[in-house]
Amino acid sequence: MTSERTRRRMVDRLRENGISDEVILQAMNTIPRHLFIEEALASRAYDDVSLPIGSGQTISRPLTVARSCELARNRTSLTRVLEIGTGCGYQAAVLSQIANEVYSIERIGSLLGSARVRLRNLKCHNVRVKHADGSSGLESLFPLDAIIIAAGAVDLPEHLIELLAENGRLIVPLGKDKQFLTEVIKLGSGQELITHEEVSFVPFLSGVVVK
Ligand code: SAH
Repeated sequence: MTSERTRRRMVDRLRENGISDEVILQAMNTIPRHLFIEEALASRAYDDVSLPIGSGQTISRPLTVARSCELARNRTSLTRVLEIGTGCGYQAAVLSQIANEVYSIERIGSLLGSARVRLRNLKCHNVRVKHADGSSGLESLFPLDAIIIAAGAVDLPEHLIELLAENGRLIVPLGKDKQFLTEVIKLGSGQELITHEEVSFVPFLSGVVVK
């Protein structure tokens, strides 16, 4: 159930559902998603569902991870990317395959601790994880080619858009009652905003916590 064949089937389904960037499909074919989920749920790791990862948080469904990465990459090469909301570390591991440097921050210390161990075991040496709040204080990471926010925001995080390189992309689930995957492209002193499909994410919260 956790074999390479099962993972390949997940990738085939992603392709059927419109993911066409082979770099992303290859990355998701490589990263063993079942190792990011507790053993009792591992048999469902390759289903297209979100699953609990502890502390009231979830790992996003494979299609949502693929879509966020595909929009962030925009078929270009990525030098430096930031993920906000490490969770179990799965998306950070996928990003490690498609970008040179990956920074991933998480506000819940216990989740970050387990994610760090998984990423180390899988030799994702180009990922740096940090226990921090994505609401502020990330200026040292400028310039970023892409930022993926893995939690639903109500307002556009302007402080993060400022950290993007020219033509860089911020991908964020945005909205109050309903969330839509939103792509913000940094263009000169302005920005272009593209609203994509409806999604469902845990909320973006401020402050750091240990458990
Ligand atoms: N990318 C993850 C999905 C994690 S769910 C994965 O592959 O599993 C979203 C995560 O965002 C949660 O773990 C939550 O604690 C975290 N989060 C929410 N608001 C945050 C913030 N302001 N700063 C950092 N992390 C945040």
